[in-house]
Amino acid sequence: RYPWFIWPALGWGIGVFSHYMAVFGRRLMRERYFEPAVEREVRREKAVMTTEKQASIDELSATIAHEIRNPIAAAKSLVQQMGEDPVSVENVEYAKVALDELDRVERSISHLLKYAKEEDYNFSLVNIAGVVDAALTQLKAKLDAARVQVTRNYIGGPTVLADAEKMRQVFANILDNAIDALEPLPEGRRIELFVENGGRRASVRVRDNGRGIAADRIDRIFNPFFTTKEKGTGLGMAISKKIVEAHEGVIDVVSEAGVFTEFQVTLPLPPS
Ligand code: ADP
Ligand code: MG
Repeated sequence: RYPWFIWPALGWGIGVFSHYMAVFGRRLMRERYFEPAVEREVRREKAVMTTEKQASIDELSATIAHEIRNPIAAAKSLVQQMGEDPVSVENVEYAKVALDELDRVERSISHLLKYAKEEDYNFSLVNIAGVVDAALTQLKAKLDAARVQVTRNYIGGPTVLADAEKMRQVFANILDNAIDALEPLPEGRRIELFVENGGRRASVRVRDNGRGIAADRIDRIFNPFFTTKEKGTGLGMAISKKIVEAHEGVIDVVSEAGVFTEFQVTLPLPPS
């Protein structure tokens, strides 16, 4: 019924067709489904990043307005009053208060500059446990005054490539906050320290049994100027994050309000 070449011709046809599908079909699939999906994902990611950045800029502006505009307004009105009644006996007091307010502005600005400054890093091979110990020594007076029991769950520690001074500052900031967080506890104030390595990373964990951090705030503690303290600067964690990231490390926190807070700093181990 069929001419003899129908089978080879059909085979050839199927071959050409599947080759065509493999080459163009794959491209079509990629262009039609895969690439738009990736693009959508990237766009979503970007949107999240901008909102986060915007939130932190908003917080920054609000704080600057609060920290700088308010004292300036106060000082201004005091100076105005002094001008209206130059011989008033209260002027001495007014001048003092105005100066205090201006001092506050000066302090805020120097904090701000300190945060914004790009600093130089001096990397060298250091024992991470030694750096943690140096931070403990730095805070010894405050730890003793607050009667905090410190447990060091390590003896030695891995060697990492780091700026020892800057990393000491990170651990000092974390410990400083931990001590503050223990304040509501009348007794049994504890800080536990762990130094571990594994999986090409070194990690330091600092755990306190203090007031903890509410879930709706925990995302903001690394934002510059976020503070819950009367005299806080809100820069300790923001600076620490900047330093850890300059080491290609990660700083994380987990907490349960009223129970505990644990900070974890992870640094890459140097290639051996
Ligand atoms: P500051 O200490 O000046 O407030 P930080 O940047 O050091 O600024 O900390 C930001 C905020 O993070 C603190 O005000 C506090 O609310 C919260 N925080 C940080 N560490 C802890 C901790 N260990 N326990 C509870 N809250 C903490
Ligand atoms: Mg702090």
